[in-house]
Amino acid sequence: MNELIQTDIINQVVDKPTAAELDRLNAELAELGPQGILKWAIHKFGPKLGMACSFGGISCMVLLDMAVRLDPQIRIFYLDPGFLFPETYAFRDEVIRHYGINPQAFRPWLTPEEQAAEYGETLWEHDPDKCCAIRKIEPNQRALEGLQAWVAGLRRDQSVTRQNLRPIEWDKKFNLYKISPLWDWTEEMVWVYLRAEQVPYNPLHDQGYPSLGCTHCTKPVVAGEDSRAGRWSGKNKTECGLHY
Ligand code: SF4
Repeated sequence: MNELIQTDIINQVVDKPTAAELDRLNAELAELGPQGILKWAIHKFGPKLGMACSFGGISCMVLLDMAVRLDPQIRIFYLDPGFLFPETYAFRDEVIRHYGINPQAFRPWLTPEEQAAEYGETLWEHDPDKCCAIRKIEPNQRALEGLQAWVAGLRRDQSVTRQNLRPIEWDKKFNLYKISPLWDWTEEMVWVYLRAEQVPYNPLHDQGYPSLGCTHCTKPVVAGEDSRAGRWSGKNKTECGLHY
């Protein structure tokens, strides 16, 4: 970790940075690699750092493995919209046992039944943005309350909308830092790490689902499609709204 990060930026980054400060911080963090970025974030933000883990992506499992080795007490949370695959819930329980962690779940205020009564049986079909706002965005807002930074498993190679991703950004939607330690990793690099370190991963990845979300909005992908092609397939929607 170099002197600039230790002495200059570190003392300032709790507040919204200027564009120039963010550029400088990114230039430094880009040299550190994922573990270095995580180590820096844990050192800098301490208990004000949260890590999102969906139990439905390979990147978050790499980050979880790296982070728990650095700080077994790191705050881990996940969103449970109520529509995850049964395999994902079972995998969550397996990961909890494997790492001895206690991730905090954040759920929507409306149960699926209450949502159906208020907005119709299939809100995800006729207004998926509204559905994601209720079942993901608002719970994520609660998950991030009181934090100064959060870690997510975003990578540049996941979709065209993520091609300009950097190690750290100011998250305008949630008003804190968002850190992406795997920003420049490829899917292949993620798999190399998973296999080398024997990190558990969701069994649905071996059944054509490289990216997993809710059952209503996730389909398997075919060869040649990008890893998120199965999310909201057939709809004019590529993100749930957490990661703009
Ligand atoms: S991914 Fe689909 S089902 Fe899940 S919250 Fe978004 S629209 Fe609703």
